[in-house]
Amino acid sequence: MADDSKQATFERPARRNDAEGVEVKYCRTQDSRSARSDDQRMTDTAGTDRPTPDVDVVVVGAGIAGLYLAYRLSRAGYRLRVFEAADDIGGTWYWNRYPGARVDVPSVDYMFSFDPDWRRDWQWTEKYATQPEILRYLNHVADKHDLRRHITFSTRVQHADWDDDASLWRVRTDGGVEVTSRFVVMATGCLSMPKPAEVDGLERFAGEVYFTSAWPHEPVDFTGKRVAVIGTGSSGIQSIPVIAQQARELVVFQRTPNFSFPALNGPLSPEKLAQLTSEAEYRAAARMSFGGIPMMERSIIPTFSVSETERQQRYEHAWQSGLLFETLTVYADVGINPAANHEFAEFVRNKIRSIVDDPQTAADLCPTDHPIGMKRPCLDTNYYATYNSPHVRLVNVRKHPIRQVTETGIDTADESFSFDAIVFATGFDAVTGAISAVDFRGRNGVALKDKWANGPQTYLGLTTTGFPNLFFITGPGSPSVLSNMAVSIEQHADWVLDCLGHLSTGGFDAIEPTETAEAGWTQHVNDCADITLYPSANSWYMGANVPGKPRVFLPYCGGVDFYALSCDEVVARDYLGFSRSGPDGSRCNDGVVRRLQPDVEMVLMEAAALNLPPMESMPVADARALYAQMLAPLPPGPDVGEIADGVLPGAAGDLAYRLYRPATPGPHPIVVYFHGGGYVLGDAISDDPLCRDLCVRSDTIIVSANYRHAPEHRFPAAVDDAMAALRWVADNAPGLGGIPGQLAVCGWSAGGGIAAAVCQLARDMGGPVVVGQVLLMPATSGDTTSASYTENADGYGLTTPLMRWFYDHYIDAADRSDPRFAPLSAVDLSGLPPAIVVAAEFDPLRDDGEAYAAALDAAGVPTELVRARGAIHQSISMVDLVVSGAPIRAQTADALRRFFAATRTPELAS
Ligand code: FAD
Ligand code: NAP
Repeated sequence: MADDSKQATFERPARRNDAEGVEVKYCRTQDSRSARSDDQRMTDTAGTDRPTPDVDVVVVGAGIAGLYLAYRLSRAGYRLRVFEAADDIGGTWYWNRYPGARVDVPSVDYMFSFDPDWRRDWQWTEKYATQPEILRYLNHVADKHDLRRHITFSTRVQHADWDDDASLWRVRTDGGVEVTSRFVVMATGCLSMPKPAEVDGLERFAGEVYFTSAWPHEPVDFTGKRVAVIGTGSSGIQSIPVIAQQARELVVFQRTPNFSFPALNGPLSPEKLAQLTSEAEYRAAARMSFGGIPMMERSIIPTFSVSETERQQRYEHAWQSGLLFETLTVYADVGINPAANHEFAEFVRNKIRSIVDDPQTAADLCPTDHPIGMKRPCLDTNYYATYNSPHVRLVNVRKHPIRQVTETGIDTADESFSFDAIVFATGFDAVTGAISAVDFRGRNGVALKDKWANGPQTYLGLTTTGFPNLFFITGPGSPSVLSNMAVSIEQHADWVLDCLGHLSTGGFDAIEPTETAEAGWTQHVNDCADITLYPSANSWYMGANVPGKPRVFLPYCGGVDFYALSCDEVVARDYLGFSRSGPDGSRCNDGVVRRLQPDVEMVLMEAAALNLPPMESMPVADARALYAQMLAPLPPGPDVGEIADGVLPGAAGDLAYRLYRPATPGPHPIVVYFHGGGYVLGDAISDDPLCRDLCVRSDTIIVSANYRHAPEHRFPAAVDDAMAALRWVADNAPGLGGIPGQLAVCGWSAGGGIAAAVCQLARDMGGPVVVGQVLLMPATSGDTTSASYTENADGYGLTTPLMRWFYDHYIDAADRSDPRFAPLSAVDLSGLPPAIVVAAEFDPLRDDGEAYAAALDAAGVPTELVRARGAIHQSISMVDLVVSGAPIRAQTADALRRFFAATRTPELAS
């Protein structure tokens, strides 16, 4: 198709610039396409052997994203064509014209940021603008910037084939037109593919049928009519109170109740406008905020760290705020900790009960099947109160399933209803629906639908391997629907524009993510979701609303800010994980942008922001004080049945211990625990949260025994004390509530090395019998030159210099091969108790753990090595803060149960 615009062609300078001072690996030095025969070669305007496509960029969709792309691309001189299925612009705001439709993000936040002058010719009338007002705004922007001329309306893109030889896309529309384009950008929206009505018999219905997602352009008048609404997501919850005002009778068919908060809509407040005085700063803050709205940051306060009274006040404040994001960030752990979530959910359920008069209707409206915030909550105006009107009725279709639509209405299992109109507010095939509706064929004819059959895989939510030059705006694996989408759309479009510029400057005409980068990002997206409660809800975020759709968490829940940092980092590291190619060859700096667990990353960022001096630069007393100070605000860990503090006889005097007893009836097996702290720091209670967690998970008594510390007491004081503690616990097991013979050891860090050493001593000294050893990130060799010490020397919490400082305080160089310090140096490891060894990926001590596990295994000791991916040394000890450590602690507890079960005699077991 000939392009009628007079824009410059996609510029491609003759040579690329390889030397950008970054680590670059060349994937292919030879352009694989140079082997083509001469007669296949075509000449483009830049004088290379590639054909000139009709346009540089095809954009699909003319909603907010398509309009912004049209603005940016046209101004940058690209030849573009925008295709839009509708007959006008607006996307979401074109289609969803149902009564009550409006934004749930403040209007001044949900708008384009590229026109700082907007107030000269535009004014929002309300805090939450209505659909007509937003559509008017989008038309105003389109007209002001003359964007319509790039758009072909009433045209749906149906196919797109990648032509590898020509390095371009062949895009085909429903009108049979083919356009060639170097790039395709899918601005097709996350919520633009409506779900079909999944009820039988709809074609029989003689009355009016409406879908909120494709509402007529003419006003619909329900006055005096009997109306059914099916669906109680945001669209239903917004439309039901408005429809109720007109209808004679309204029956709402609810499958799943949703949490909804009062919108408290009203005129735009002067305070809000005042925040925009410095517009550029305000928009920049939005781009670097958690959800794309400035001043609404993620909380870092755990729920149960504050009093019940304070919590209730906080919940009330959120309820009264009229701000959706405020309700999602009440406390740091609401989306993570089921107990925290339950408490906030119960607060909202109590609000529902207090508003709705009929107790049964109130009960039906109270969501109990999903954690609050894990399905999209709603903002409403009078939603719950609407059910107090005598002409409004709620039908719980879980109890009374819809059988069919009849000629006159709807039959449930036990009742027939007559209606004049049925409104479907039943939602969308979200995030992937509109993308998958286009038949994309990438390299080697692979269909995108097939590639994504088990769920979408993307790099940054922007691109996917095997489909070069294809970009998704707010695609799966990006913050998209969890954010203020206006901000996320601009961030993506800006990134794409920068990328096109980079390709042009570098002489490349194709870009594609590597498999490594894509797999790494997909893993990261899942890691983020897995530490939350999101996967537990049957939401459209999980694809659960569409029959047969793979159950995968679709957006990225790490936040707009962290996400933007990843995108920026990819660019700064020479488009890390992207292969770029052109007539002159290709270039690729392969790798994974986020390898740490997301919660670990957050903890490290917060720690770095404190800018603390390194401990090894301090006097020991100061380092101990700082250590105690750092531990104090950590979440306390779970409640146990009983905690008892006492003293036991150490090798050279009394030692403090703390005993953690499970709440279950005893007696229990006992684990003697040795704390971390590099022989210098910590005490019997410094790993309190970890000991509590282990006690609850493994249902064992934990005795955390102190030992003497360096530099006051050097080697072998610590291990001598540990051995004494082990003996004392073994001798006093019945008195402690333990089961004789059911004794294991556990230790973290230096304590892990001590635990390993006492197992060897107990073996060599004829007792006590230890049935298992749990070695958490143990120090086993004293060698600080291994690869893990080099790779993780700094930046991951525990540093190599600090480890050296610990060792220097504790032990002379000459003693460092003594197995009581370095259990890995033992000549014989056979006959030791079965072990579980945890090694964290980003830990100087990683190789110590791995080497000891390998040596135990080689010596015939049953050994489980847990390689904790993306973890740091502290991942296991920061209970309830580093949630990604929980599965490792669970594995550890399972191992303990196994150790004890394997040695339990039948009499003991009974
Ligand atoms: P869309 O607006 O969905 O536009 C995509 C366009 O692509 C559509 O016009 C569609 O017709 C077209 N299209 C799709 N496939 C093809 C094809 N194959 N060929 C041609 N054209 C195609 N987000 C918020 O952040 N805050 C809110 O308050 C908010 N409220 C919402 C209310 C409703 C009722 C809905 C449904 C969504 C809401 N959203 C909200 C999400 C909303 O979708 C985004 O904020 C935003 O409007 C998306 O813009 P977009 O341009 O990416 O996609
Ligand atoms: P939705 O949240 O998916 O809600 C659809 C509703 O229909 C759900 O209650 C669903 O029940 C029900 N449903 C679906 N199929 C059904 C069936 N066959 N029988 C009975 N019930 C059925 O869709 P939506 O309300 O259109 O909202 C989608 C998203 O768009 C929102 O989450 C939000 O992101 C955005 N939105 C925002 C606003 C706003 O306030 N600005 C307004 C509208 C939409 P189940 O839960 O059991 O599946």
